Amino acid sequence: MSQQGYVATPPYSQPQPGMGALSPPLRGHYGDPSHSAPPAGIMKPAGPLGPTAPVGALPPGPPNSGAHQFGQNGPNISGYPQQRFPGPPPVNNANSAAPPYPPPSHLPPASYPSPGSASAAAQLGHQLGAMQIHDYGPGMASGSPGILAPPLAASFQGPPQLAQPSILQPGPQMLAPLPSTHNGLGATPSLPPAGRQDGLPGSGPPAASFPSLPLPGQPPGPGYPPQQGANYGPPQMPGAQLTSPAGFPGGPAQMAGPMQPPKKLDPDSIPSPIQVIENDRSTRSGQVYTTNIRGQVPPLVTTDCVIQDQGNASPRYIRCTTYCFPSTSDMAKQSQLPLAAIIKPFATVPPHEVPLYLVNHGESGPVRCNRCKAYMCPFMQFIEGGRKYQCGFCSCVNDVPPFYFQHLDHIGRRLDHYERPELSLGSYEYVATLDYCRNNKPPHPPAYIFMIDVSYSNVKNGLVKLICEELKTVLESLPKEEQEETSAIRVGFVTYNKVLHFFNVKSNLAQPQMMVVTDVAEVFVPLLDGFLVNYQESKAVIHNLLDQIPEIFADSNENETVFAPVVQAGMEALKAADCPGKLYIFHSSLPTAEAPGKLKNRDDRKLINTDKEKTLFQPQTNIYEALTKDCVANGCCVNLFLFPNQYVDVASMGLVTLQTGGTLHKYNNFQHLDSQTFLNDLRNDVQKITGFDAIMRVRTSTGFRATDFFGAIYMNNTTDVEMAGVDCDKAVTVEFKHDDKLNEDSGALIQCAVLYTTISGQRRLRIHNISLNCSSQLADLYKSCETDALINFFAKSAFTAVLTQPLKTVRDILVHQTAHMLACYRKNCASPSAVSQLILPDAMKVFPVYMNSLLKNCVLLSRPEISVDERASQRQLVMSMDVADTQIFFYPQLIPIHTMDVKSETLPAAIRCSEERLSEGGVFLLANGLQMFLWLGVSAPPELIQGIFNVPSFTHINTDVTSLPEVGSPYSQKLRLTMSNIQQKKPYSMKLTIVKQREQPEVVFRQFLVEDKGLYGGASYVDFLCCVHKEICRLLS
Ligand SMILES: [Zn+2]
Repeated sequence: MSQQGYVATPPYSQPQPGMGALSPPLRGHYGDPSHSAPPAGIMKPAGPLGPTAPVGALPPGPPNSGAHQFGQNGPNISGYPQQRFPGPPPVNNANSAAPPYPPPSHLPPASYPSPGSASAAAQLGHQLGAMQIHDYGPGMASGSPGILAPPLAASFQGPPQLAQPSILQPGPQMLAPLPSTHNGLGATPSLPPAGRQDGLPGSGPPAASFPSLPLPGQPPGPGYPPQQGANYGPPQMPGAQLTSPAGFPGGPAQMAGPMQPPKKLDPDSIPSPIQVIENDRSTRSGQVYTTNIRGQVPPLVTTDCVIQDQGNASPRYIRCTTYCFPSTSDMAKQSQLPLAAIIKPFATVPPHEVPLYLVNHGESGPVRCNRCKAYMCPFMQFIEGGRKYQCGFCSCVNDVPPFYFQHLDHIGRRLDHYERPELSLGSYEYVATLDYCRNNKPPHPPAYIFMIDVSYSNVKNGLVKLICEELKTVLESLPKEEQEETSAIRVGFVTYNKVLHFFNVKSNLAQPQMMVVTDVAEVFVPLLDGFLVNYQESKAVIHNLLDQIPEIFADSNENETVFAPVVQAGMEALKAADCPGKLYIFHSSLPTAEAPGKLKNRDDRKLINTDKEKTLFQPQTNIYEALTKDCVANGCCVNLFLFPNQYVDVASMGLVTLQTGGTLHKYNNFQHLDSQTFLNDLRNDVQKITGFDAIMRVRTSTGFRATDFFGAIYMNNTTDVEMAGVDCDKAVTVEFKHDDKLNEDSGALIQCAVLYTTISGQRRLRIHNISLNCSSQLADLYKSCETDALINFFAKSAFTAVLTQPLKTVRDILVHQTAHMLACYRKNCASPSAVSQLILPDAMKVFPVYMNSLLKNCVLLSRPEISVDERASQRQLVMSMDVADTQIFFYPQLIPIHTMDVKSETLPAAIRCSEERLSEGGVFLLANGLQMFLWLGVSAPPELIQGIFNVPSFTHINTDVTSLPEVGSPYSQKLRLTMSNIQQKKPYSMKLTIVKQREQPEVVFRQFLVEDKGLYGGASYVDFLCCVHKEICRLLS
């Protein structure tokens, strides 16, 4: 290795010889000169760009009008080869075809039929004063509708439950989830006087249970005041007397209080998430779901089915909190149902579904509405014999560009309707013209820069060697376009501690060269030529380098690190190479070296449960915000792999990752045992299909608009969602608000357009369209809700609010809004019944259990065993999750392994996340998308233990392992296959923890049993339901 020592700033402005090999993509990407056939459209799955490009200069094109970002169509006519695209079979009319499934309301009633009501509501009838349940249909686990028997936990002699320090000691206590015994918030008489002006006969002294509940049979009160939607705005809360569970769920102390002796509520009698999942699976699994119907509610994320795009984006790309929007903003306010879409623009499509078609209009570029700039899509109505079209979004009547003209058939549809993806499909891509490129120049392919922290501990514990070894194989699988032989992505390498080392790995070098940059205050890139290289061409030099790095730093004693200068250097390198890209930073410690972005240890637990707790989620210094802005402006996406042994300030360091669309991975106290998890994550991340330098715009039809955006995104203004990178796992949650009345006939239309650069350096537009219904009937809204999407929205909006609001305020708003949504349903949609009955909309009947889990999440409710970094990291991960990720995160999958039939293909059904569902004779697998646990009951069958672990008994099981041995037994094979199937669809590699019943790690495991009361506060599902019911009754009175 030759060292050149300190190098002065290179002249960036000069052309770099090394860049010569990377000539810009051919014009061919931007047009098609070779055909002048009649317009038929170029339709084929994204991939090869097809015909070659027009030669000759592009027409200057009209200047962009207004502030529009995406540029404008060129006026030219261009031809297309005749190529019919094998689109979906014709349907008669986008709105007239028979739905493949009955609307949700006609589905077989879920497990909580409501005999008293024709509506599909799950009625949860409590006579709350006595905690009796009635009004259940047949099929309930408990035969008697009166006071319910203790739950079925008798066989599980677990440790004593709840906030006892002695929890880990084995004990013979019976576990029973008692609604009110354990400081249940349902019994918390916390209503301030202001909230109790109901004058109800039931308003007893605070000590009475459910004092504010109207008596059964009493008619609802004369309406409750409409509340504003929760916006986490300034501390004045909507409906300021938030009486709900005032203490909820702030901790045991706040929940203490006089209580009514409990009656037991059978957990089997309250809505079960498992049942909801199973019901949807049984009716919709394995079927083909076609998207031809406006406002259709898709199968749940937990149901496997084949999706066929017939005019609306697949639910893999877009899911909504409700598929029927209220016509007016008054209705929206009245219900407080959030109107939101969760958009995952680069979602992976399974092999048996059709990938996106690529439309190429040559130099003309995409056809767009002159006024609102919406892209051609199935919502445009062609008129005047095909010469004009009316925009579905803004109603503007546009001329059809001559090259795009086509005659209409007898129902007014273009004859080429099924030959053009943009006319008949919900999702497709356009080749973007130069107007859509930075500086009107085609982009260069992206580059990946690997930046390794080589401080003392990382070298010592073998991490540096592990990374270097792994990179040799990982780099073989850089993503490439299908038709290309090798990846167009270039790679570069940097190591650092308190200084930075750049490496020249140009292919003609015998040895890599190192250049050191010590000036971390104003970091610069000491070389361009030879820094970013084609891996295959420079493979020998790169492998040489990766072999040498661990040795070069083997004797380094440097403990201090910098961080912001590392990001800065990577960003500058991409900027100098004029390409977008990703940084892969492998970092271990708090960056305390003297440099910009230096951080101090502030893991300040004193702030927990104070109004200043929010500062723990904010970056320490504003340098990280400025750095983020620069990264986004240069298409630099930052992936951060953290290996902390102590506090590293994820809130500060993670900001740049979050806002550049990067991924944060954190491996606490990394040991080689964990290396598989890390290596899987690294491999997966490098191979991911990613869009670079992306900008997303969400357009809507008149009457409503996108107002808030949540995700791994950066917003410089109110409309453009910028993502330096966006990969197949990142989802953006978009909230909509009314600005006018919506038209029930035309519905609510949404178009999401993402302009981005592909892995091979092509500029493209990815378009997703979805049409929703509108209604002036509140019942229609509730019927079309999707609980999993609602939870995704609430999680992201709450996790955003924690940056500016006290956590208790955020929790209170969530509880209040939950009650409000359900009260509005109760008042306006449910058939008349006793006010004391809790009646939940069918589509939201398990909403409370998810909401309660969100409220208990460590981001919103601190727990002593969870570090500030862990909370910041969970917050960050959730922010970019899609609906499936948040579903399993807030309601983990719990599978009884001991009931597994090794001969059968199918898995045992999951069970509810509650301790009482465990049994000491069982073995259970729990997964939440980030972690996996295998819980072993003390009396688990020895043959099962032998089969899984190859040891004779429970006591012989080694719980230190993070993967299961390959035993070769049917049990082992089936379990390992099950785990890998669960893992397969998830963005993060889940670390496995083996938990023995009544041993220490059980405390951690228990926190995932989200139906139970939290050890450190946080209500049980039953208690939360009571609390919500109480609040609903207050609102209705
Ligand atoms: Zn328009």
